[in-house]
Amino acid sequence: MADQTNLLAALIEALRCLPGVGARSAQRMAFHLLERDRDGGTRLADALREAMQRIGHCKSCRNFSEADECAICANATRDASLLCVVETPADLLAIEQATGYRGRYFVLMGRLSPLDGMGPAELGAELLIRKLQEGDVRELVIATNPTVEGEATAHWLGQLAHAAGVRATRLAHGVPLGGELEYVDRGTLAHAFGSRHPLDD
Ligand SMILES: [Zn+2]
Repeated sequence: MADQTNLLAALIEALRCLPGVGARSAQRMAFHLLERDRDGGTRLADALREAMQRIGHCKSCRNFSEADECAICANATRDASLLCVVETPADLLAIEQATGYRGRYFVLMGRLSPLDGMGPAELGAELLIRKLQEGDVRELVIATNPTVEGEATAHWLGQLAHAAGVRATRLAHGVPLGGELEYVDRGTLAHAFGSRHPLDD
């Protein structure tokens, strides 16, 4: 009996790692799976283990990928002269779903935020600078969020582009100030993406 209690407590504690899940919700989820959906629970456990073990980062754009290179980077029909920089994989997905963008991406996996220990190194600056210097990229499309940190990151990216002699553009109006791309409706995002403008340097 003691063992069972420990397992249950461990399950509830583990579920709390999910965003927005507190003690009560974790408890409810654990009981739901045990009482009503053991198959679903087992599938969830298998999928979690596989994903955690096998999903890494694309060596070229840093997006999540099972393979060395993600499907977008490996797609030869995507325009290598356009490089769109986003903060997160969710932002990349939002742009893919909302716009007809056919270029490549670079995923920062964050934004400049010195207090949180996020500096250029953590955002993959070395890889990005190498890409800019290789000469294939003609336009760096800066699609960081219109938050204070996102704007600071955009400014820094503009400097990198300028140093490499690459044109930098920024998504236009339409994305609300303080908003996150992931939550902007598709029409607004498509418009902002379509009317991006040169970044002042
Ligand atoms: Zn990639």
